[in-house]
Amino acid sequence: MPNNDDLDFKEVDEDGNLIEDAGSTPTDDSNKDDKRDGYERYCYLCRRPESECGNLIHMPNEINICQDCMQKTFDGLGDRLQIFDMNNFDLSKLSGLGMPRFQEVKPKKKKEKEAKKEGKEDKDKLDLEHLPAPHKIKALLDEYVIGQDYAKKVLSVAVYNHYKRVITNTMDDIEIDKSNILMIGPTGCGKTYLVKTLARLLDVPLAITDATTLTEAGYIGDDVESVISKLLANADNDVEKAERGIVFIDEIDKIAKKSNSKSRDVSGEAVQQGLLKLLEGSEVEVPVGASSKNAMVPLANIDTTNILFICGGAFPDLEDIIKKRLLKSSTMGFGSDLKDHYDQEDVLKEVSLEDLREFGMIPEFIGRLPITCTLSHLDKEAFIRILKEPKNAILKQYQKLLALDEVDLSFDDSALDAIAEQAMEKKTGARALRAIIEKFMLDIMYQIPRDDNIGRVTINRDYIEGKGVPAIELRTAAVPKIEAQ
Ligand code: ADP
Repeated sequence: MPNNDDLDFKEVDEDGNLIEDAGSTPTDDSNKDDKRDGYERYCYLCRRPESECGNLIHMPNEINICQDCMQKTFDGLGDRLQIFDMNNFDLSKLSGLGMPRFQEVKPKKKKEKEAKKEGKEDKDKLDLEHLPAPHKIKALLDEYVIGQDYAKKVLSVAVYNHYKRVITNTMDDIEIDKSNILMIGPTGCGKTYLVKTLARLLDVPLAITDATTLTEAGYIGDDVESVISKLLANADNDVEKAERGIVFIDEIDKIAKKSNSKSRDVSGEAVQQGLLKLLEGSEVEVPVGASSKNAMVPLANIDTTNILFICGGAFPDLEDIIKKRLLKSSTMGFGSDLKDHYDQEDVLKEVSLEDLREFGMIPEFIGRLPITCTLSHLDKEAFIRILKEPKNAILKQYQKLLALDEVDLSFDDSALDAIAEQAMEKKTGARALRAIIEKFMLDIMYQIPRDDNIGRVTINRDYIEGKGVPAIELRTAAVPKIEAQ
């Protein structure tokens, strides 16, 4: 190692006296001292030993930093050089400069900083006064989500109570329990869409994750805490904001206990076990700005107590389990009546903890999702409404796009019928609608801008079914009118 006598960093004690041996100059001598201790010095930031990263620069408080890290720090400093007051050196400030470090991000510091920056504005959002009442939340949801009235009602009340609890913390010393939600409904019926809409309306961060990607910590796949990491990223790394966000775990039915597997169930029951502490509320340490923990990534402590967890799944065959239970409990002879009755009714609404347990969910897990809401299958009527009624309905989006070219796009009723019928056949719920529309709109979007004379396009059933062409009206009639004015 080169003798670096030029770097004369001496360490002094509190009274200003020179400390002779412990970590003074980064010379061969000091290395000898280290070896005498049996320990080698290492860089406080990148953790490489001195033998690997070269001479260390010694700073007060027994902090040693390698020259690479020091250089990186200066590079990233920009106009914030003032934090490098060596007498009052605060390493926690390095986090904002993209420096790797081991210390935790202190949420409080961030809070103060953010509070100053954003002033009152941020607070207002979580004010009791500004929290919309359940009927208002439902009315807002109605603008975007068609049908599913029961689920919307349950969600509105649950979310209202949850945020009331978050804002007030306690009520007359009676702690209000956390109201995590379990959503059960067939695929494409609007589970994710409901949650997304809700988070947008309430202006809280949302993280959506797929339970099938989760595995027990240490196995290939994401561990459960990655969900919180995602939430933090979606909250722009603002710990306080993330702590009152919403986490939606989709495909929750896929982590049901495997009934007859002999191998270790790392993606089923173990994930349910892993999620327990998150759902209940605990402090977790998550990497900031990355999906996995490693030495170069700063960590943040997040308290999940006020995070609302919503789990959703299709739970195939759950209806059969419910029906079986209901039939078992009915008296002999009435069974067939009951069967017919439940065939027509939405049998999912009758779901009980017992049914979910039989499905493969562990009792502790379901116990932490006290609110269950079920969504129903969407029928043809609902599909037609989804096409045209929501505020951001897909037909409205295309109409707006073509309106920019001054073309009037319309769909006659037979076309809507045909689209809905095709979507029903696909059995993927409302998700199929967009795929179908996109397929036949491609030609329209391609051809229309080619011809300036087209003023109106009307899509009909024949066009949807590939048997004909849309009705096209030219704008020639409108031209003389404009000229006459
Ligand atoms: P899933 O229930 O499988 O989570 P999604 O919520 O992802 O289904 O629905 C897929 C898409 O279908 C959504 O992006 C949305 O555009 C549409 N959609 C589904 N259900 C509804 C609904 N009830 N009202 C309006 N749009 C819906």
